[in-house]
Amino acid sequence: MSSPIAAIDTDVLLTVNLIRTGRAITRQQLARMTGMSRNTISSLINTAIDAGLIAPDGSAPSTGGRAPATWRFRQEAGLVLAVGVHTSTLRLAVTDLAGQPVERRTLDWPITRGPEATLTRAAEELQDMTRRHEPPVWAAGVSLPGPINQETGRPSSPPIMPGWDDFDVVGTLEPALGVPVATGNDVNIMLLGYASTLPDQGRRESANILYLQVGTGIGVGIMSNGHLHLGAAGAAGDIGHVQVSGTDSVICRCGRTGCLEAVAGGWALLRDAHRAAVEGLSPHLKECLDRRGELTVEDIVTGVNAGDTECVTLMVRSATAVGDALAMVVSFFNPGRVVLAGPMPQGCPMFLDVIRRIVYERALSLATTDLEILPAGSGLDDELRGCALLAVNSVFTAATA
Ligand SMILES: [Zn+2]
Repeated sequence: MSSPIAAIDTDVLLTVNLIRTGRAITRQQLARMTGMSRNTISSLINTAIDAGLIAPDGSAPSTGGRAPATWRFRQEAGLVLAVGVHTSTLRLAVTDLAGQPVERRTLDWPITRGPEATLTRAAEELQDMTRRHEPPVWAAGVSLPGPINQETGRPSSPPIMPGWDDFDVVGTLEPALGVPVATGNDVNIMLLGYASTLPDQGRRESANILYLQVGTGIGVGIMSNGHLHLGAAGAAGDIGHVQVSGTDSVICRCGRTGCLEAVAGGWALLRDAHRAAVEGLSPHLKECLDRRGELTVEDIVTGVNAGDTECVTLMVRSATAVGDALAMVVSFFNPGRVVLAGPMPQGCPMFLDVIRRIVYERALSLATTDLEILPAGSGLDDELRGCALLAVNSVFTAATA
């Protein structure tokens, strides 16, 4: 399956990609990065302008003499289809080429319906959404909540996705959507989207970031010097199922016992919150359960912020287990920034405080001197941007290979 830019000359696309990623935005920088002459670069720029891929973007600060003209990638030149598969929702979006949403839809859709039904529905919704928009669709990016095999792009033994193991997501969606499809693990995709919003090019290229999601499950995205670290097989950062001490009797949904997720993940918190509500230990949770017939992690967050003792206990237990695991990872990887996403870290300042205290106490002081531990802005926006970037990156890689 090829993208609308597949037929364009490789040198033109290499030039456009340098401009798109901000690595070179003036003729001089492009000539330096590519080793081509200024005349050749001028001709490539003209072709890229004619193809609608770049546009003039003012000028860079002068270093003596006339200020050099700068160029920008026309992110409005095409569309990307984004698919976020979550435990109980399916999030779909049409975005521009930088992940700015043009249209979004969220469906109540349990992942347990399996890959065929889920992807068929996603394709139908996306086809309906793209009908109303002008620019050509370049590609699609799919975010999946489990480990993805790097070689095949298929989910690999995902613990919460029955029926998805080794399913050919790309081979199913490409014929339905008619564009190239790229897949990735959700946390890695969120990190890709998050890093693209860092304010300057230097910071993006030197970024050492851990993006920790404490949602239904727990996982870490790892960025080393501006590059996603996926690991030899694509399993890097899957810390939800590392063993934590003193929890041998707790059974995890992966079938083993003593996993971090079985103590600190959203599903484990809900299991215990439900028990606390039924046993009358938490008036707040009981009221929530009586009112709606079910509980969410947001109910625990509201309880914590209202001072409900049982909710605070659940939250501190989760934050302590996550903090212990994170302290080890921080000593090992030495990130400059840890970003935490999920209802608990984003809705509960105390959750972050507990984690910060443990990490600063336990991790090596050299690793924590300049360490920032911050809540994510919006994990869902990060995911959307990340899907678009993953898809567009793949298109450029394929077209310039
Ligand atoms: Zn497990």
